[in-house]
Amino acid sequence: MIETNLENLLAELPSDVKLVAVSKYHPIQDILTAYQAGQRRFAESRPQEFEAKAVQLPQDIEWHFIGHLQTNKLKMVLPFAYMVQSVDSERLLSAIDRWACGNGRKVRVLLELHVAAEESKQGFTEEEVLDILFRAESYRGIIFCGLMGMATNTDDMDTVAADFGRIRAYFDYLKDLFQELDEFRELSIGMSSDWKTALESGSTMVRIGTAIFGERVPVLRPLIQDSI
Ligand SMILES: *Cc1c(COP(=O)(O)O)cnc(C)c1O
Repeated sequence: MIETNLENLLAELPSDVKLVAVSKYHPIQDILTAYQAGQRRFAESRPQEFEAKAVQLPQDIEWHFIGHLQTNKLKMVLPFAYMVQSVDSERLLSAIDRWACGNGRKVRVLLELHVAAEESKQGFTEEEVLDILFRAESYRGIIFCGLMGMATNTDDMDTVAADFGRIRAYFDYLKDLFQELDEFRELSIGMSSDWKTALESGSTMVRIGTAIFGERVPVLRPLIQDSI
């Protein structure tokens, strides 16, 4: 199942679009199945689960963090994260920067842009992103790698396409304005329900969970198994 899902997705994704397999709530065994099928890029959204999986699974996995991150949980995430995609406040960005400088590391981040209709969704406004990038040099521990975004949660693909279109336009504007940020090139948009629409809007990275691993069952099964 997981192998076939991956194979089908990869057959449809352009080769320069990165597939991030969202494994949150799924057991270690399922991640290993995807790993053995060749997948190396995975994402988690809860610090404890992220840390527990990262220490148990093969070291050559590229781990992305995509959930809400509280500053008191950084130590669970940053030692293992290839990239934090869900930076949604200046307070978090500064805390990551401090951790990075204190540990002699650089942390790759995406800034999460708020475009969905729901007020509840996280993310920066366009003005806030602009303001941060003008001060990018002052964040010595941060590598700004691009933008992450989520569309409005709706079946109406016109609304989704409009949301993605706005992110894309802003991403292009920023890339042009901040050409000195040469790693600023990822546009992480698209999930199981809307990745095809995201591709039409220039996505460089899709974050797909359900379409690979099936439905998430939040509580009932043990997340972390004793051994692998
Ligand atoms: C869970 C999650 C996804 C994956 O969602 P699916 O609909 O299962 O593909 C993508 N991005 C973020 C930020 C998520 O939290």
